[in-house]
This record gives sequence, C-alpha cells and structure tokens, in this order.
Amino acid sequence: ADTVLRVEDLSVYYYTLRGIVRAVEGAWLEARRGELVAIVGESGSGKSTLGYSLLRLVPPPGRIVKGRILVDGVDLTELQGDELRRARGELVSIVFQDPFTTLDPVRRIGDQLLEVLLEHGVPEEEARGRVPQLLESVGLPREAARAYPHQLSGGQRQRVSIAAAIALEPRVLVADEPTTALDVIVQKQIMDLLDELRRRHGMAVVLVTHDIALAAERASSIAIMYAGKIVEQGPAEEVLREPLHPYTRALLDSVPDIDNPRWPRPIPGQPPDLRRPPPGCRFAPRCPVVMEKCRSKEPPVVSPRPGRKAACWLHAP
Ligand code: ATP
Ligand code: MG
Repeated sequence: ADTVLRVEDLSVYYYTLRGIVRAVEGAWLEARRGELVAIVGESGSGKSTLGYSLLRLVPPPGRIVKGRILVDGVDLTELQGDELRRARGELVSIVFQDPFTTLDPVRRIGDQLLEVLLEHGVPEEEARGRVPQLLESVGLPREAARAYPHQLSGGQRQRVSIAAAIALEPRVLVADEPTTALDVIVQKQIMDLLDELRRRHGMAVVLVTHDIALAAERASSIAIMYAGKIVEQGPAEEVLREPLHPYTRALLDSVPDIDNPRWPRPIPGQPPDLRRPPPGCRFAPRCPVVMEKCRSKEPPVVSPRPGRKAACWLHAP
C-alpha cells in the first residue's frame, strides 16, 4: 500500500538502422512513498532510458515494447492523449541534468511556471498566486519570476526546473543526474533541496546516477543496473555492505573508497553491445563466479532475504 511506483517486466528498445538496441530488458523496480531510490550503473547501462520511460518520454527510435509502469496503481503504459499529459506532472515528473531541457531560454521564469500550472487546469488567478510560492519552496526569491534563465546561475536554473517538476505535486519525481553539471557545493544544495521536497510532499524520488558515493549518501534504496538489466534492488546500506549480485560487488570494488584500503580494481572485460547481448545472464561473460547455466538461461528474480531482490543464479533455489 506504501508502494507508489512499481515497474514490472519493462523492456525498451531503440530501433536503429544498425540494429535493435535492447537498452532496457525486463526491468523491475519499486519505490515507496517519500523514499529516494537510486538507480546506479555505468554509462550506457540504460539508466536514462529507464528513467524517461517512467514518463513515457523515450525519444524515437526508442519504444516501450512491454511491461507495466504503475504509479499509485495507474498503469502509465495504458494512458494516451490527455490522460498521459495529465499524468506527466501530476503522477510522475522529471528533472534533467541540463535545465535547458525544460526551460525556454527566451521566456521569463514566472511565465514558464505559470504555463505549467495552466496546462494542468489550475485556474489562472490561483496559478498566479502559486508561482511565487513555488519559487520560495525551491529556495528562490519571488523576484526570480521576472528573470530569464540566462540571468540565473546553473544551480538557480536547476531549482527552477525542480519547481516546474513539482508544481503539480507528483507522486514520483525522476531526477536524471540532476547535479552532474554543477560544482560540488551547489550539488549538495540541490540534493538537500530534493530531500526536503521529498519529505515535505511525501513524493518518491528516483535518482538516476553513475555515482555510487552519492547514492550511498542519499538513497534509502538502491537498484543496480547492468547492460539494460536491473540486477538487484534493496535497502541502500544492505546492498552496499552485502551485495547479492556479483556485478554489484565488482562495481563496488571498482570505485575508489577512502574507507577501503585496497586499490580500486576495474572490472575485467567490457559491457556487451546491447544490439547483441549475450544469452542467459548479461554479466556472465565478466562474472568471476559464473556457472554453466548462467551462459544459457536467464536468471530469475529472487528474494533471498526480506526486502531484497536479485537476478542471479547464485541465489535461485
Ligand atoms: P549514461 O550514464 O552515459 O547517461 P545511461 O545508463 O543513461 O548512460 P542510456 O542513455 O539509457 O544509458 O543508454 C542505454 C543504451 O541505449 C546505450 O547502449 C545507448 O547507446 C542506447 N541509446 C540511448 N539513446 C539512444 C537513441 N536515441 N538511439 C539509439 N540508441 C540509444
Ligand atoms: Mg544517462
């Protein structure tokens, strides 16, 4: 009942001239009210594709080919037209790495926020009153309404895109590397703001990031993605302390960590070409504990411990 987001068996492919890129395959994910779930994985693992598909915003030639995306019990994959437009903003919303993905450079901030509210049917008078409140709720002065995006700093612009994303109080906010383009101090401020809004509105935040340290610091739940597959998800401390999937272990060993006296060990080999993923487990070719069946049979998603899930034959009965 507490679950606001449930992704079931979601596959997203890009139909390119050079082949079908199986960017997300059979993905599953869960987020509870008010929690921060981090989707962590290397570049090209399909994190952004998964994040965009939560809003049905996969760019062409990408397409959701199967699966369900349940937000508050509503299956987004079944919505069309106006219903879908309403769901974007009211049920689930997104913040991108580059604020200009959402902001129009030639219009005042206040007008852009007003438009978001009007598009979702908020009466004009009420909407005009809410713009200054929205700006203040993301830590900007109400005078910022008169500014153009280029008159603001990168951190302030990201605050504006967050304001636009939360204007309709969505249940789920997807944030795709929202702080990667910002300097360290501003990164912390933006993450603090997301934490505060999450607590205040009880919305779940799905943070897409390649940064395990950031996930460790902020997330209550971590989902690990490899080559288009979610390989495990669980409470953040548990996943980091005692990973179930060999890929998670390898990923943790590959990053420098001041608490770990060992030198980081890169994962041998390369991730697969997603146009020709290996049969069975996609990590099998690089897995240090690979078994025969891993190379031919897809591992099932199992829950060897309460609250934890992994897709690995090591844990299958
Ligand atoms: P990064 O950390 O670099 O942002 P990511 O984990 O977000 O990577 P995606 O951008 O989702 O990964 O990409 C997943 C796969 O889909 C990659 O193989 C990528 O090349 C492919 N891909 C992404 N966008 C497109 C597109 N528009 N057309 C074709 N292939 C695409
Ligand atoms: Mg990405």
